[in-house]
Amino acid sequence: MADPPRRGRPSAPTFIVPPPLPPVDLPNLDINIRQLAAVTSSVFDCMRWLAEHCLITNTFSCQACDQPMRLQKREGRDYIDGYVWCCPGCQRRNSIRINSLFEGSHLQLVQILDIVYWWCRDLRQVHVIQETGVSKKTVIVWQKYIRDVCAQYVIDHPVQLGGRNRTVEIDESKFMNRKYNRGRFREGQWVLGMVERETDNCCLIPVDD
Ligand SMILES: [Zn+2]
Repeated sequence: MADPPRRGRPSAPTFIVPPPLPPVDLPNLDINIRQLAAVTSSVFDCMRWLAEHCLITNTFSCQACDQPMRLQKREGRDYIDGYVWCCPGCQRRNSIRINSLFEGSHLQLVQILDIVYWWCRDLRQVHVIQETGVSKKTVIVWQKYIRDVCAQYVIDHPVQLGGRNRTVEIDESKFMNRKYNRGRFREGQWVLGMVERETDNCCLIPVDD
């Protein structure tokens, strides 16, 4: 496997993973915590895994001059991930987290990934705190945020429910986590939810009240 790019290397790559990216089916991803830990054991490995799964961008063009930005190593407090996108033209820099779930957080990428993993596994909050070393307050914020992201996915990918010998359960919920301010829910948005008991297929519809 190629070495991670070094600071100042004139030919720093314009990608995290050499393209083309392997095909990915994130909703059906089947991985256990040992496998996940093995493929995300260093910061760069974690970045690579996230890029392969389209959870961070694999390439990025400068928003000022539209050139492909280069992935450069950067150390210090301001560079939590150790790498940034750097424009060879105007020297503008962008976080490798740009336009991702991870943008704006002070947590390590792997800590967020672990919170997401344990949320998917329904691990109790007290154990998520133990496993990740993240404070209770931060875990709660992230769990609400993940819930909002998943709800938005369900809204954007509607499926037809019901029919012969099918039972549909209906409930309502209020989504209001705005900390990272990237979901499309309004403050305190009510959402009508329907779940087909036999299949777990579900449907969410934002409603006014
Ligand atoms: Zn530029």
